[in-house]
Amino acid sequence: MEQILIAKNLRKSFGDVEAVSNVDLTVFKGDIYGFLGPNGSGKSTTIRMILNLITPDEGEVFLFGQSNANHRKEVLRRIGSLIERPDFYNYLSAYQNLELLARYSGLKLSRKEIVEKLEIVDLHERADSKVKTFSQGMKQRLGIAQTLLHDPDLIILDEPVNGLDPQGIKDIRNLILHLNQTFGKTLIVSSHILREMELIANRMVVISKGKVIVEGEVLTLLESERQKLILITDNITSATTLLSQKFPHIIFERNKLDELIADLSAHEIPLINKELVNAGIGVKQLLVRNSLEDYFLHVT
Ligand code: ADP
Ligand code: MG
Repeated sequence: MEQILIAKNLRKSFGDVEAVSNVDLTVFKGDIYGFLGPNGSGKSTTIRMILNLITPDEGEVFLFGQSNANHRKEVLRRIGSLIERPDFYNYLSAYQNLELLARYSGLKLSRKEIVEKLEIVDLHERADSKVKTFSQGMKQRLGIAQTLLHDPDLIILDEPVNGLDPQGIKDIRNLILHLNQTFGKTLIVSSHILREMELIANRMVVISKGKVIVEGEVLTLLESERQKLILITDNITSATTLLSQKFPHIIFERNKLDELIADLSAHEIPLINKELVNAGIGVKQLLVRNSLEDYFLHVT
């Protein structure tokens, strides 16, 4: 599979602060690559090094098979990025803003071509509305339309859902999937909200304090995760006895709330439910903590 981005051993300090150390990343063509980490973990610094906005103290970035230090222009032409809140002229329309930005970048786009970009982000019906009438989510989508002006192969979005309301977050999520599935774009999307990434990313990296903690396929990372089961039944004594017999390798613990707690892997959960039902024990509640969010909390 074609590697779009390879970052090798990236390191960057600001004075005494080591913002990024030993970061290795690989992004393949067609990925929605989740770049996850709490605030201050080094996501934006890494993205700035990828985009050649700051120079790493150590390490290298290869984009489309070329070093971004030696082929800056060629490489950046194939990337669209949104790394800060987009800044638009409030008294100009969505269309006029994009037209200006296209011109600044030396692109000659027709009205039709610009409206096509607005259509991708579902703002074409508001093409001639002033940006000051836009919600935060609409401004963010306009920012994404801006990244599309030169039809890049790779799109990098730094915390694109930050500060948006639930509908705005949903719109951006769907837009990211649309760009990937309909237009074949490769995306790198950073976030500190893991649940958000879990819904869209196929591969991801988790960083903490500038270091990579885990990288790989989201499904694999989820599967390899030990899950926590919290079970409430109408007969905890029988349930404990039964399950301890049927699943001798799992440790079932009864807590003060009379819940049965166990660490196990995902495939065992339906088996446990089945045994309880077969034995006529009523399952009142069966909770599983299995999200990347929990995984993330666990590893950081
Ligand atoms: P994130 O994007 O994950 O929130 P950042 O990459 O912005 O993290 O920051 C990582 C660390 O580097 C933080 O401790 C931050 O304060 C520090 N940092 C980032 N940029 C600068 C800078 N220009 N000058 C000094 N410190 C910085
Ligand atoms: Mg940041």
